[in-house]
Formats: sequence, C-alpha cells, structure tokens
Amino acid sequence: MNLNEIKRYSRQLILPDFGTREQARLKKAKVAVTGAGGLGCPISTYLTLAGVGEIHIFDFDRVELSNLNRQFLYTPSDVGKPKAKLAAERLGEINPEIRVEGIEERITYDNAFELLKGYDAIVDGTDNFAVRYAVNDAAVVNRVPLFHGAALMYEGRAMSIIPGETACFRCVFPEPPPAGMIPTCREAGILGSVVGIVGAIQASEAIRYLAGLEIGLKNRLLIVNVDEMRFEKVRIARSSECTACGEKFVPRPVEEVCVVEEGDE
Ligand SMILES: [Zn+2]
Repeated sequence: MNLNEIKRYSRQLILPDFGTREQARLKKAKVAVTGAGGLGCPISTYLTLAGVGEIHIFDFDRVELSNLNRQFLYTPSDVGKPKAKLAAERLGEINPEIRVEGIEERITYDNAFELLKGYDAIVDGTDNFAVRYAVNDAAVVNRVPLFHGAALMYEGRAMSIIPGETACFRCVFPEPPPAGMIPTCREAGILGSVVGIVGAIQASEAIRYLAGLEIGLKNRLLIVNVDEMRFEKVRIARSSECTACGEKFVPRPVEEVCVVEEGDE
C-alpha cells in the first residue's frame, strides 16, 4: 500500500477485524456490478470508496432526467449519454488508486455465463427479472458469489448467495411473478433513499466477504420497509429442486415480465 492508500483507507483500517491484510484482499478483488442505475450507483460508489481493486460496471442504458431522483452519479448535462462510461469515469476520479471500467453491454441469458466469468464477486443492480435470473444462473454455474438486491416503492430486499453453500435466488423464487403482478418503478415509483439503503447493504456484504469477514445475509432474505421503517430477516434454504444450484443445472431463461428500466421513454 502506498502512503495515499494508507491515508485514504485509514478510517476503515482501524476498524476491529479490519487491517492491511483485509485491505490488500479488497485491492486484489475483481468485481462485476450489473447495472449503473438506482442500485448500481450506491453499490459501485461504496465499492470504489472501500478500495476494491477492479470494478467492471455493466450497463447499456443512457441517462434520463427521471433517473436523477436516485442515480447520483449523473447530472442534467449527462441526459442522453451512456451510463456505464460516465459512472466509470466519475468513480475513477473519486478513487484513482483503483481501476473502474464501464462496459456497455446488455446482459442476456445467452451472454451472461461468458460475461460474468472470472470475477471474485458479482453485485446485482439490475432491475428486471430476465436479467436477474440470468445473473443468478451465471453466478451459480461460474461459482461466483452474488450479492442480490431489489427495490420498489418504499421496500427493498437483499440476500447474499455463495454458490455451493447457500440458497440462490432461484431456490427462493423459482419463477418470476406472472406478468402484470408487479408494477414497474415507472408505474409504482421509487424513493432514491430506498435504493440507497439496499445498494449500501449489498456493498457492505460484498466488501466484508471480499475482505474475508463473516457476512449476515447467507441463507437470509432481508426485507427493508421504509414506510414503517421495518427491517426483517427471513430464513431461507437451498432447494434440491432448484434448476440453478440443485443436483443438475438446467438452463432456464426467463421472459421479461416487466421492464423496470426507463430506457425506452
Ligand atoms: Zn438454487
């Protein structure tokens, strides 16, 4: 670690259980963040601030004015520009000690397995079911730990998936909800601070995991409800019937039941 790094990370280096060994583990880590939107902004920002050595941000969307109640890496003059590159540029300025790369690529069931290979962790900031299931299956098959999160209206969820050890997203939700069951965030709304909370929780889990520390959301689904300020941890378990992490992997692409991104406005 150079002197700048020692100073920059000094407040976390004095934490109990956290020291130069843990910081070095973060520096060596290569992490994929899927999505540079409402969740992707806090996720990638906290990974950057903590000193994760290499961060790849996947997003194919462009900035819209309606993103700016929550996507704090962008300004009004960014409207129309691609998010992945902008986010990578800003985060690189915030922490020049690390490498941040923006990848303008739409993740699909066909390319997820190849794109999300070779990472130490994936932190999921995507907001539609087709991509979420693709990311889960790719993480499980490639045996990359996955930090899941989702948010809508005043509620958010998070869980940490360690392939081979814990329940995966598909163990808990084998099928997406039927079309029309879940409103999109354009129909139902989303408060910026709620994605902030969920994204910060995902980042905290990923950072602790990468540093070699215990994490709290293995086999647990955290449900955060901000209108009553209720935090609830629900016990979940692996399913032997799971098509992703059960006895035999079965590829199962999921139809996009609702589009939550505002990319086609
Ligand atoms: Zn599973």
